[in-house]
Formats: sequence, C-alpha cells, structure tokens
Amino acid sequence: MRGQEPLLEVKDLRAYYVTKRGIVRAVDNVSFDIMPGECVGLLGESGCGKSSLALAIMQLFDRVAKFAAGTSGARAALDRYLESQEQGGPVRHGVQGSIIFRGRDLTTLPEEELVRVRGREISLIPQGMTRALNPQFSVGMQTGEPVAIRETQVRLKELREKVLQYLNLVHIPDAGTRFVLDPGSFSGGEAQRILIAMALINGPYLVIADEPTSALDMTVQRQIMNVLQMVKEEFDVSLLIISHDAGVIAELADRVAVMYAGRIMEYGDAVQMFHEPGHPYTQGLMASFPTIVMMQMQAGKKRPRLRGIPGDPPDLTDIPSGCPFHPRCQFAQDRCREEIPEYREVGPRHWVMCHRYEELQSNGP
Ligand code: SF4
Repeated sequence: MRGQEPLLEVKDLRAYYVTKRGIVRAVDNVSFDIMPGECVGLLGESGCGKSSLALAIMQLFDRVAKFAAGTSGARAALDRYLESQEQGGPVRHGVQGSIIFRGRDLTTLPEEELVRVRGREISLIPQGMTRALNPQFSVGMQTGEPVAIRETQVRLKELREKVLQYLNLVHIPDAGTRFVLDPGSFSGGEAQRILIAMALINGPYLVIADEPTSALDMTVQRQIMNVLQMVKEEFDVSLLIISHDAGVIAELADRVAVMYAGRIMEYGDAVQMFHEPGHPYTQGLMASFPTIVMMQMQAGKKRPRLRGIPGDPPDLTDIPSGCPFHPRCQFAQDRCREEIPEYREVGPRHWVMCHRYEELQSNGP
C-alpha cells in the first residue's frame, strides 16, 4: 500500500452539537487516513465519539444533532463560534475540517454529488440492525433498493438475480424462497448479514460497519466475523470497523485508531498496537480484554495482567483540560493537566498523543 494515495483522508475534523447540558464535543480535531483495500479498526469505550465520527464522514452528523435538545438558533451560534476559532473554517452538516475521499473534499461537495457518494461509493452499516431494516418491506426489495436507486432502468429479473447473489454471499439460508419475507422472519444475525449485503451490492470503495457484532450472542458474532473476513479477503473494498471490543478489531484490522473523549489517542499498525501499545490509554484498554492479554502471552510478553482502567470516560460536554485521559492515567503530571498533547509520529505510520511517550518508553511504565 506504500506510495499509494489514501482512499480517505480525514483532517482536523470536529463535530459538535448543542444540548441542554452544553456543547457535546463528539469529534474533536480528529485526523487519520484509510488506504485502498485496508481495514482500519476504530476502537474505544462506549460514548467516546466513534459513531459520531462515522456519521461525520458520511456528512450525516447534523441529522443526529437535530435529535439533540439544541434549537436551530443554538446550532447557528455554535457554527459561528467554531468558524471564529483559530483552526476554524466553514461548518457544514455540523462538521468542520476536511474529509478527502478519492481526491474530493466531502465537506464542500454539492449536495447531489454527496447523495451519489453515499449511495454508491461509501456504505454505512448502522448500529442496531432491528431499527435499520424497514418491517413493511420484503428483505429482497430492501437489499435491491440501492441498485434500483442507482439504475432506474434495471430489469426486475437482473435485480432479483443480483439480490440473490448477495444474499447467498452472506450465507442467508434458502434466500431464493425467503427473500420475499419481511425482516421479522429473519434472526438478528441474518438481519445483520442482510445489512452487509445491502452495503456491498453497489460495489462501494469504503464500507463503514458500526458495532457489527454488538448485542449478538457468541455463535452469531462468529458468523458475522466470518462474513466480514470474507469481505476483507474477497472484495476490493476498504473497511472501517467500529467497535468497543478489541477482540473484534484484533481479528480484522490492518491498522487501529484508538479513540477517547472525541480524539484519537493512538493510530498505528494493528499487530504492533496489540502487542506493544504505546499510549497509556491503549495499554489500559488492551489489558481489559482477556483475548488480547492471551495474545500478548502467546507472543512471549512478560507478566501480562488482566486489569481494567480506573474511573469512567468523561462526559463529552465537560472534557477534562489538557490531556483528556489525565484523570484516569497513572502517569499524569502537571503538564498533562494543563496542555493538550500534540500528535507525535513515533514510528512509521504510528502516531501517539501523549506528552510522556518517549520517557515512558525508555524508563518503562
Ligand atoms: Fe497520561 Fe499525560 Fe500521556 Fe495523557 S499525556 S496519557 S495524562 S502521561
């Protein structure tokens, strides 16, 4: 992948919204990229801004923000505030910064082109499959809908064949007879696989899967993981897998971005980050998952211990000063409480947001 241009390059992205409790800084100065054919895992605890980042990339963030308590006047005031900031720039769809996708900035793309990009070039598999499928229409109709919207002249026979091809690809049993049924006739795992088929049917360049295995039992999770692995290996597509489960990310991702309080704390090669995490938050996160600790033990790491991170993630309306992780970090010093750390490139394509990275690496935690 070296020498290639990124498929997606997100720079200095901010996505805030207004609630009765104050401004929610859901995505705060986020930068990262995804290369063609690459699978990037976005990992972090619930409520850290992962889903907001996905919606911001899709330019759908303002639709979520509309559900917050803020009025349109409050939104306009927030946009004026963001635009007046030093690192400002126009705010569109509640998002500031740039999202370069295949050489075009999605934040400045005309609305009709944006609709085309969303329908054909980037697919989002949303969280919560029961709400994502419409109970009033058959699964076959919903799976074929993205194609019918793109090709208004498509013949019914061709559309049916394509729908069945994709339902078979994601292992829906008896798809040929069941595709006329409504979503209520399918299990949770089948519904999630149908959403994957819908996301792939138009041949997108990028698929974003938001918590693809959450709220499913272990057997069904395994089926979804197998389908995603198949997509990764057999489709010419980039993936952004969003999860709070490090085991899911470890199995699929080539690179990992760890998110905390709306920011990316560390971004780098998946193998390195799972075996030698550099940021104190990543270290704590990895040590919270038995599967990751086992993986580290198998790789010969000394005395890995299973332990959680003390405290709770911050309220995004009241993010701590300086390094947002400082109230939970055992290495925090005065500087951490006062100054937001810069991103430092600590290795090839490996970034860490921590004042004390070098010191902790040389002295050991
Ligand atoms: Fe911990 Fe300070 Fe590094 Fe933040 S900057 S992770 S508080 S050592």
